[in-house]
Amino acid sequence: MENESLLNPGSTIGIIGGGQLGRMLALAARQMDYRTIVLDPDPNCPAAQVADGQVIGAYASHDAARDLARAVDVLTYEFENVDADSVSIAGELKPVHPSTSVLRTTQHRLHEKNALLKAGIAVAPFRAIESVSDLHAAAVDLGYPMVLKTATQGYDGKGQSIITRAEGIESSFRGLNKAGTELIVEQFVPFTMEISVICARTATGETATFPPSENIHRNHILDISIVPARIPDEVRANARSLAADIAENLGVVGLIAVEMFVTRDGDIVVNELAPRPHNSGHYTLDGCDTSQFEQLVRVLAGLPVAEPKLHSPTVMVNLLGEVWEDTDGNPDWEGALRLPGVSLHLYGKAEARVGRKMGHINVVAETVEDALYTAIEARDRAWRRSKNT
Ligand code: AMP
Repeated sequence: MENESLLNPGSTIGIIGGGQLGRMLALAARQMDYRTIVLDPDPNCPAAQVADGQVIGAYASHDAARDLARAVDVLTYEFENVDADSVSIAGELKPVHPSTSVLRTTQHRLHEKNALLKAGIAVAPFRAIESVSDLHAAAVDLGYPMVLKTATQGYDGKGQSIITRAEGIESSFRGLNKAGTELIVEQFVPFTMEISVICARTATGETATFPPSENIHRNHILDISIVPARIPDEVRANARSLAADIAENLGVVGLIAVEMFVTRDGDIVVNELAPRPHNSGHYTLDGCDTSQFEQLVRVLAGLPVAEPKLHSPTVMVNLLGEVWEDTDGNPDWEGALRLPGVSLHLYGKAEARVGRKMGHINVVAETVEDALYTAIEARDRAWRRSKNT
C-alpha cells in the first residue's frame, strides 16, 4: 500500500513556536534535508536562526497560522501552551501532528487526567476545584498533603501550591484562583524518583520509546537528567510500555513525553504529558542512536521510527541564565570542554535571565556515575564555581 503521509526530503515542516525545541527540531530536519518554517513573534528567536523561513506573528493570530500552513507540507508545535484554535485553523489546511485534540487534552490537567484514567493508567487521585468548600471536601477524600494546581497554563511549577493542613486551604485557593482559570487538586505522591519517557508514534501506529530519564528539578525547573535512570530493569520496562500505551490510547502521531513518579515499591504514577519534544529528552542528542528531534522529523515525514538505543550512559545538565549573569555574560566554555565526553548545546538566546533555559551540556561516559560527576563539574567550570563554594 502506498504511504500517503510520506514526504520526500525537500518538503517543508511548519513549526509553531520558535524556542529551543523548535531550533533543535529544525537542525534535525536539516540533517535529512527537510526544510522548516517557524511561526514566532520574535525575528531573532532560537528556531528562526536555523530555520529556512519564518512567519513573524503572534501564536494566537489566525492569519499567521494560515500563512504558515499555506507555506508548508506538515505542521507541528513546540510548546503546549500554543493557542489551540490557531493550531486547529492551520490544521484545516495541512496535517498537524500531534492532532489538535491531543493538544487540547494535554493543555488541560483535568482533561488529561480523565483521559489517563479512562485508559486505565495510574494517576494521583484528584478532584476538580471551584470553591474553598470543594477543597475542604477534597481534603476529606484525599488527605494531606495535597497539591493545588491551575488546570491550564502551568509550567515549571508555576500555578501550584502544596496544602499541608486545613489552615492553608483558604490562602492557596485565593492565590491560584486569581488567574480565573479552573483548578485541580491532587493527592501528594510520596515518590522516590521522577522519571520521564518519550514515545514516538507514527501515523501507521508504530511506536518507539526512549530509555527513561531520571529527572532532578531545582526551583521546579528541570536541572539534571540521568540516563539510565537508577531504577530496576522491571520498572524501566514498565515505564516504557506505559508511555507507548498512552501514545496509542490518545492516538498521538508525533512525540509524547510522559512524566512519571516512581514510588518506593516501584509503582509508577503518571504526572503529566507533553505532546512535543521535552527537556528531559535532550540527552538523546548525544546518548542515543537517534534523537527525540530526529524521531519527530521521521514521524512528520511519514518515515519509520526505530526503537532508539542508548549507546552510553548520558547525563544532561541545563544551563540557565544565572550561568551568564554570574560570569558577566562570559561562561568558561574552554574549561568545560576540556573535560572528556562533554557536548555543549546553546540556544542562541540574546538575553540571559535567571531561570531562563539558555542551553545544556550532555556528557557521555563509561558509567552513569562518571557522566554525572563530569556533567556537574563541566557546568561548574563554565559557571566558574569551585566545588568548595
Ligand atoms: P507539574 O507542573 O505537574 O509537572 O509539577 C511540577 C513538580 O511538582 C513535579 O515535577 C513534582 O516534583 C511536583 N508535584 C506535582 N504534582 C505532585 C503530586 N501530586 N505529588 C507530589 N509531587 C508533585
